[in-house]
This record gives sequence, structure tokens and C-alpha cells, in this order.
Amino acid sequence: MKKDEAVEVIKILNNTYKDAKCSLNFNTPFELLIAVILSAQCTDERVNKTMPSILKKCSTPEQFVKIDIKELEELIHPCGFYKNKAKNIKNACKIIHEKYNDKVPETMEELMELPGVGRKTANVVMLEAFGNPQGIAVDTHCKRISNRLGLSKESEPEKIEQDLLKLIPKEYYKDVNHVLIWHGRNVCEARNPKCEECSVKKYCKTHNKKV
Ligand code: SF4
Repeated sequence: MKKDEAVEVIKILNNTYKDAKCSLNFNTPFELLIAVILSAQCTDERVNKTMPSILKKCSTPEQFVKIDIKELEELIHPCGFYKNKAKNIKNACKIIHEKYNDKVPETMEELMELPGVGRKTANVVMLEAFGNPQGIAVDTHCKRISNRLGLSKESEPEKIEQDLLKLIPKEYYKDVNHVLIWHGRNVCEARNPKCEECSVKKYCKTHNKKV
């Protein structure tokens, strides 16, 4: 897809999903960081339901460092992969507490040094918590729709992101993830895309093809 078409697609999707926003609930950058780590292989809805009981027990990095790992695993259990997530959250909180004085760092590089934080999570935190998008978070919806639309032929999230960054100007970074997630949930579903309802079908490489 050409640059001008990619921008047109994002503009149309922005118009289609005017209310699109991050669907994880959070009050602080720290809460968001924990929520995004928990959201790996889990729905945002499940994370939103689980977070209040976690925050009741631990609301600061230091409290996450001090809590018994078994207790943390139990709290995290509903979000899946609880052993790994508990270990990563504990280790990330140790670094935030000791190195960053309990504040979530505000650069991609520093964020990605935290256990459990990859490019996707760092991108989400930079955008949603700090309003300073540095790239485009490629999740399952973004990946699928980028491939279907013809924005990228790649299958690895990092490579898809690089393709998107070449096509989409920085001023739209803040919108891309929200509108693609909304589009993926509402129209371009994984198994049954509703191509006839799709507002960007005229730009789509897979419109009405078997997916
Ligand atoms: S035309 Fe179909 S496959 Fe293409 S983006 Fe729209 S819903 Fe998805």
C-alpha cells in the first residue's frame, strides 16, 4: 500500500471509530504498566476485572517487591501465565523501586529493559501513560489487519511495526493502535470479517477473499 492510501485508511478508521481508546483501566503509569504486562495472552476485560484485587494488596512497586511470590501468583492467576507474569512483575518492580525511585521510566529503551516488557508494552505505556508515542504497538488485531489490508506482508510484530512506521506519519501513531483494535473487534474479526460493512474495503487487499 502507498503512503497516501495508508494515511487515508487511518483517517477513515478514525472517523469510523471516533470513541476508540485504550480499553485497559488505569489511574497511573505504574498501574498501566502492570495491566499491560498482565494483558499478554489475556483479554483486557479479564485484566480490568483482576486488577482491583491486585491493587488492594499491592499498589506501589515496593509492595510488589515485598509480597510473597505465591500470593502474587494467586492474585494474577485469572490472567493466565501467572507464574511467569508474577516473576516478571516482581523483578520489574524491583528495578523501578531501586533504580527509578518508584517512577515508571519514560523512554522506550528504559522500559524495554524491564522484565516482561517488550516493544509492544513499551509502545502502549509511552502512548497511553505519557502521551508520547514512539512507535506503533503491534498486537494480534494490528497484525491481522495490517496483513489483510496490505500495510505489511510480515508476520513478526517488530517487522510489521517497521513497515507501518514507514507508511504512517508520526502524527497518526497515537490513533493507529486504537482504531485497528476497534476495527478488529467490530468488523475485521479473525474468523469472520464483515467485509461488506467495512469502511476501508476499497483499500483492502483481502476484501471478500477467503481468510
Ligand atoms: S475488507 Fe474485510 S478483510 Fe479487509 S479490512 Fe475490511 S473487514 Fe478486513
